[in-house]
Amino acid sequence: MNKLYRTLVYDDEVSLSVLDTTELVSNAIKIHNLDCASSQVLGGLLTACAFMAGCLKSADGAVSITIKSDDGVSCASVSGDKAGHIRGYAEGFKNGIRGGNMTVIKDDGYSRPFLGTCELKSGDISENFMQYFQKSEQIDTAAVIDVKIENGTCVAAGGIIMQLLPGTREENAELAEKTMRGFVPFANRLLHLGADGIMQKYFPSAMKNSAAYIINPEYKCNCSRKKIEGVVLSLGKAEAEGIVKEQGAVKVHCHYCNTDYAFTEEDVLKLFGN
Ligand SMILES: [Zn+2]
Repeated sequence: MNKLYRTLVYDDEVSLSVLDTTELVSNAIKIHNLDCASSQVLGGLLTACAFMAGCLKSADGAVSITIKSDDGVSCASVSGDKAGHIRGYAEGFKNGIRGGNMTVIKDDGYSRPFLGTCELKSGDISENFMQYFQKSEQIDTAAVIDVKIENGTCVAAGGIIMQLLPGTREENAELAEKTMRGFVPFANRLLHLGADGIMQKYFPSAMKNSAAYIINPEYKCNCSRKKIEGVVLSLGKAEAEGIVKEQGAVKVHCHYCNTDYAFTEEDVLKLFGN
C-alpha cells in the first residue's frame, strides 16, 4: 500500500519523509501505457508531488508540478491535494529529461498561490528537486527519489526526504547528510524492507514524535462529467454550438486519467438551457 511517513528527527531539527508510492506509480503507468524512461520521469514526479501534497497545511490545499523541455517536445504535469490524491501525465520523455524548466504552484490557503520555477539541470528528479527547494523555497533539502522498472512494471517506487529546519545545528545537519547518503539507491532498500521496515530499522522512535503522521497517497483524478460541463459552459453557447456543427460533438480529454468526455448537440442544448 502507498505510504507517506512524516515526522521530525535529530532533536526535532530535521523533518523526515519516507514514501512508498509503488502502487500509485504502477497505476499511472497502466493508465498512460508508458515506456520505461517516461515511467521513471512520471513516477519520480508523482512521488515528489505526494511528498509536497503531504506537507500542505490547508485542508483544501493543492500543489502542481510541471516540467517542460525548452523545445516543448517533452512535458509532464502532476498535481495533488492534502487528501493524498495524486494524478499526472507525461509526454515525450522516452529519452528522459533533457533540460528545460520546472514550475511548482502551491495553493495552501494563503491569499495568493506560491509559484516557484527552476531550471532542470539534471536528468535525475531528486537533483532537480533539491535544487528547487534550495532556490525557490530556501530550504536545505536532501532527497532520494527512486523508481525501479523491470520488464515494463514498476517493482518499487518511493523516496526519502530530509529538510533542515531553521537553526539546525551543524552536527545534526551532518548526521542527516550522512544518513541520506546511505539511502542511495532507495528502491532496493524499499523492496527489501518496505517503508514500514525502513522506519522501524533506521528511525525506530521517530513515529512516536508528536509531529508524526501517516498519509496513504493514491492515484486519483478529480475530473467528472459535472466538472467538464463547467468547461463546456465556459466556452459560451455560440462557440459550443459551432464546435458541435463542425465536429459532431464537443470533446474534452482529461490528460490525467485518459478519459474522453463527449457532449452531443442534445447535451449542449440541455447545458445551455434550451
Ligand atoms: Zn481525469
